[in-house]
Amino acid sequence: MTDRAIGVVGAGTMGLSIAQLVAQSGSEVVIRDIDEDILNGASSEIETGLHEAAERGYLEDADSVFDRVHTTTDLDTLAAEANFVIEAATEDIDVKQAIFEELDDSFDDDVVLGTNTSALSITEIASAVDNPERVVGIHFFNPPTKMELVELISGYKTDDGMLEEARQFVTEIGGGAEVLTRKR
Ligand code: NAD
Repeated sequence: MTDRAIGVVGAGTMGLSIAQLVAQSGSEVVIRDIDEDILNGASSEIETGLHEAAERGYLEDADSVFDRVHTTTDLDTLAAEANFVIEAATEDIDVKQAIFEELDDSFDDDVVLGTNTSALSITEIASAVDNPERVVGIHFFNPPTKMELVELISGYKTDDGMLEEARQFVTEIGGGAEVLTRKR
C-alpha cells in the first residue's frame, strides 16, 4: 500500500459500511477487529456491496475499489498504515476506553481519533487518554454508504483543529450534506 489510509476499528455493521464508503471515495482503508473470521466476513460483505453498487451504475469498477480495502487484527499494522482513525466498535464505555487508550499510545499526537458512538459521551471516552483534544465524535447513520448526514460531536476538550480535520474528512468522502456539531 502506498498512500496513507483511513483506519477503521471494528468490522461490524457500521465499521464495514464506513470502510466501503471510504474506499468508494478513493482512499485506502484498513479495518481492524479482534478476530480474523469477523474481518473475513466484513470483507465479503464489502465486496458484495461494491458489486451491487456497480450493477446499479453507482461505481465503474468494483474490483479496483475493493483493492483499497485492507484488514488486520494487529494494532501496530493499523498504526503504521493509517493517519486518521474512526472507531466503530461495540457500544460499551469500557470497550471504547480500552480501545482509545491503545490508539492514543500507538498513533502520533496529530492523528484524529474519531468515534462513531451513538450515545456515549465523547468527553468520557476521551478521559481514558493522554491527548483528549484529538478525540472527536464522527457519527454516521446506518447505512453510512447511503446516509449523507454525519453528525460531528466535540468532547469538552476536543481541539477545534481536530474537529475541522474531521469535518474535512466527512466532506472528502462525500458525506456532510448536513454536518451538525454539538458538544457532549
Ligand atoms: P457491531 O456489534 O455490529 O460491531 C462491533 C464490532 O466491534 C464487532 O465486530 C466487534 O468484534 C468489534 N470489536 C469489539 N471490541 C473490539 C476491539 N477491542 N477492537 C476492535 N474491534 C472490536 O456494532 P455496530 O452496530 O457496527 O456499532 C458500532 C458503533 O457504531 C457503536 O458505537 C454504535 O453505537 C454506533 N452506531 C451504530 C449504528 C447502527 O445502526 N448499528 C448507527 C450509528 C452508530
